Amino acid sequence: MTSVETKVREVQHFINGNYEASSDQQTFEVKNPATQEVIAVVSEATEQDVEKVCQAAREAFENGPWRTMTVAERCAKIRRMAEIILERKEEIARLEAADVGKPYSHAVAGEVPRAAQNLKFFADFMEQQGGETYPMEDAYINYTRYEAVGVAGLITPWNAPFMLTTWKLGPCLAAGNTAVIKPAEMTPLSVSLLGEIAKEAGIPDGVVNIIHGKGSVVGTAITKNTDVDLISFTGSTATGKAIMRNGADTLKKFAFELGGKAANIIFEDADLEKAIPVSIQAAFLNSGQVCLAGSRILVQRSILDTFIEKYKAAAEALVVGDPQAAETKMGPLVSEEHFKKVKSYLEIAKEEGATLITGGSTPELAPHLKDGYYLQPTVYLHEDPKARICQEEIFGPVVTIIPFDTEEEALQIANDTQYGLNGVVWTENLKRAHRISHGVRAGTIWVNCWFVRDLRAPFGGFKKSGIGREGGHHSLEFFSEAKNICIALN
Ligand code: ADP
Repeated sequence: MTSVETKVREVQHFINGNYEASSDQQTFEVKNPATQEVIAVVSEATEQDVEKVCQAAREAFENGPWRTMTVAERCAKIRRMAEIILERKEEIARLEAADVGKPYSHAVAGEVPRAAQNLKFFADFMEQQGGETYPMEDAYINYTRYEAVGVAGLITPWNAPFMLTTWKLGPCLAAGNTAVIKPAEMTPLSVSLLGEIAKEAGIPDGVVNIIHGKGSVVGTAITKNTDVDLISFTGSTATGKAIMRNGADTLKKFAFELGGKAANIIFEDADLEKAIPVSIQAAFLNSGQVCLAGSRILVQRSILDTFIEKYKAAAEALVVGDPQAAETKMGPLVSEEHFKKVKSYLEIAKEEGATLITGGSTPELAPHLKDGYYLQPTVYLHEDPKARICQEEIFGPVVTIIPFDTEEEALQIANDTQYGLNGVVWTENLKRAHRISHGVRAGTIWVNCWFVRDLRAPFGGFKKSGIGREGGHHSLEFFSEAKNICIALN
């Protein structure tokens, strides 16, 4: 398959074990962002369809075999899903490249295997879980059980659709819940396959459901639905706030992973041989459409000139092109609307007096990509950490280098943000690495590395970057209700 898709796919909802169209037959189109070619026609759900899918998930939870089957049996089926994903990984990665515009090489070697790992990890992890006992001398004994909550709404974004959906689905299913998945309307293709994958793996009908449509309609209807007990959401901070408001009347349980504007702090003793290539990744992976992007690069002034020279050369060497081509390191932005938003920051940077180091326009492209939403890797230098380009989440291949003099100043700039998802520190000084790691107010700190994930570790944000934590027991606790049973012994 090349970037020139010949077949327009038809994508439908997956409700109670079957793919089906919307009740009013409405559809919307999905385009390949590298070419603007229509690659899919997708069913667009009505509120009535949302009602139906939530009822199906409720019925499967209350009266189906899923939550009462043995943990071993349940987890074997989830592991089978993981195996099928690996068997189909090229196909899924091709879809993700066509739909999101992310390089196939990254999808096939990174995100799709990680998606399988998300499911396998939580299946294995669930089998290791126990509970607590609290004896009260010889008079009573308490013991705890962790039980499924009910129906989970899993609302996921467009930047890593398959990986992020399975990251929620793994613990959701392992804990015995049923799911209503709502993928982002811009990128529904890979996630849509989870229906048939679940069915083939022997997951009972109604346990995994998928519904497509606009966030404002379908996402809102799921959030307000009385059959849905909890919402796990990854996306923008603004949408997180809307979900919280809309879920208040039905008192939903929430886990939110929201925006970020991470500081990537480069001290003068950093090993630049490592810091430069990883900081390039941290800025331009997935065209910078990564909530964990290190988009504020804080550089100690004593090495500023050297850093800029090397970083500029590395940014200019990035191969931007067809997401399906093996050599491509950066593809387009996801959509016209998002492309316009990211480009508006180039104007803002100009107005704010930032110095353009490199980028800022359309890269040279093969003729078949001339309509794609492409932007060069773009790097600014700006002295003012309060500038909009240093404060707002651009979510594109646009980063700003901000100079600092002292460690205290670096920390102050790093924390001068409404976000707190992650931070990155480059130094060879062990004590400084600890000091900065403790001082940055964010949920994950990477020292001399970036994007390294242990699925047992907590993941989530301080401040406006989220509520709650995912990963390991944190995920299982979110998807479980703790129950205490107290027994009189006399
Ligand atoms: P972005 O702003 O980066 O496009 P969003 O946070 O809007 O990201 O989207 C992430 C997910 O949230 C998508 O699946 C989208 O459809 C969904 N969504 C958008 N608005 C709402 C809403 N009001 N309620 C629930 N889900 C929503």
